[in-house]
Amino acid sequence: MIAESKHLELELDDKRYIWHPFTQMKDYVKEKPLIIERGEGSFLWDIYGNKYLDGISSLWVTVHGHCREEITQAITEQAKKVSHTTLLGLSHPPAIELAKRLAQITPKGLNKVFYSDSGATAVEIALKMAFQYWLQKPNGCSDKKKFVSLKNAYHGDTIGAVSVGGIDLFHKTYQPLLFDSLKGESPYCYRCNLGKTYPSCDLGCLTQVEDVIKKHHHETSAMIVEPMVQGASGMLVSPPGYLKGIRELCTRYNILMIADEVAVGFGRTGKMFACEHEDVAPDILTLGKGITGGYLPLAATIATDEIYNAFLGEYDEFKTLFHGHTYTGNPVACAAALASLDVFEKDRTIIELQKKIEFLEKGLKRFWDLKHVGDVRQKGFMVGIELVSNRDSKEPFPPQNKTGIKVIMEARRRGVILRPLGDVIVLMPPLSITLQELDELLKVTFDSIRSVIPVNCKL
Ligand SMILES: *Cc1c(COP(=O)(O)O)cnc(C)c1O
Repeated sequence: MIAESKHLELELDDKRYIWHPFTQMKDYVKEKPLIIERGEGSFLWDIYGNKYLDGISSLWVTVHGHCREEITQAITEQAKKVSHTTLLGLSHPPAIELAKRLAQITPKGLNKVFYSDSGATAVEIALKMAFQYWLQKPNGCSDKKKFVSLKNAYHGDTIGAVSVGGIDLFHKTYQPLLFDSLKGESPYCYRCNLGKTYPSCDLGCLTQVEDVIKKHHHETSAMIVEPMVQGASGMLVSPPGYLKGIRELCTRYNILMIADEVAVGFGRTGKMFACEHEDVAPDILTLGKGITGGYLPLAATIATDEIYNAFLGEYDEFKTLFHGHTYTGNPVACAAALASLDVFEKDRTIIELQKKIEFLEKGLKRFWDLKHVGDVRQKGFMVGIELVSNRDSKEPFPPQNKTGIKVIMEARRRGVILRPLGDVIVLMPPLSITLQELDELLKVTFDSIRSVIPVNCKL
């Protein structure tokens, strides 16, 4: 434990020296910061020794819990072998083994693994691959320059990834810096822009996407989607048939499909990869977040042989994919990812997860009793509870109420760490969580919502 004399200094220096991401620092510096010192299983401890249940897997990454012995050990052993060795023209065993295993477990046809170090970089690479593919493929064409993406999409914070993003709050400011992307309707059933209801809607949102693609396919290189769940916009679960429909449209109109599984991959939705729910194989797959079990930054962009082949040529044809980050495919990170895949097998993580998903589903039913809960969305171990001031009109709370933040601060006082997306309370526990811990997570979340929302709210 950190000496008591250090606590205050850490708190002051945190405010003095760190600019926290996605954080309004004016508010942040008014509060006592929560400084995490260690973790074990589903729990985190702060510098004072207070224990918290990690309800969001430390921003959606922790798969098998904190400080899982096998992963820690794999990291230690690998770090003793070499510090960093580049993949630019060289190779190393953990990257090779991991690429092989990823090719084996990902949907059919995805065989070529291009490493990077974050979800956003994996997306940048996917976009560049798709764009360059059309230029260089046999009988290539230079017209296919655009991308189709969805409203409410989130693919990361770098400029290319923001260009295919669809969350105004995060993305609008940067509009002048972005390239054009064509927007399809988001499968947000609770607030359907078309005013329809599933299943009588006949997937009207998909029809709208088709209209966009039909009009622009000749100038479009790819469509990018978050399979099954649009995560960062509030855990928007796609209705059945939507993902498969997107795959069919991409095939029919001859554009590539990029599946961004950065958030949904590695068991999060109840299957190893979300595309499996609808038996979909994309042309390019992006992976990140949970890939190392939540230990180290690593990401991968996995492409089909057909795409890869379009980059082959004589040296001086310059068909090379001129992209690579310094720490691309870092050996320690790859070793962690391999150890995480081993734990998936040893623990039968996906199988064991099914009863927890059911338990979660049952436990979430009770939330409908809270009058300011407008919607409860769940796909596997991804949950979004959307709070509204009026359930009938679906009117949101005014942002200055900071309702979501108040709820998670209340949960924190009750020993659970959450992070909301606006007024959507997110539950994303480690896949390794026990039923008892899950029960605690549900209970604290329920009580926190109930205690925070003022009684004079419009219902
Ligand atoms: C988090 C996320 C990203 C970005 O990943 P970073 O590692 O934060 O860059 C990209 N796509 C999706 C779907 C995500 O949820």
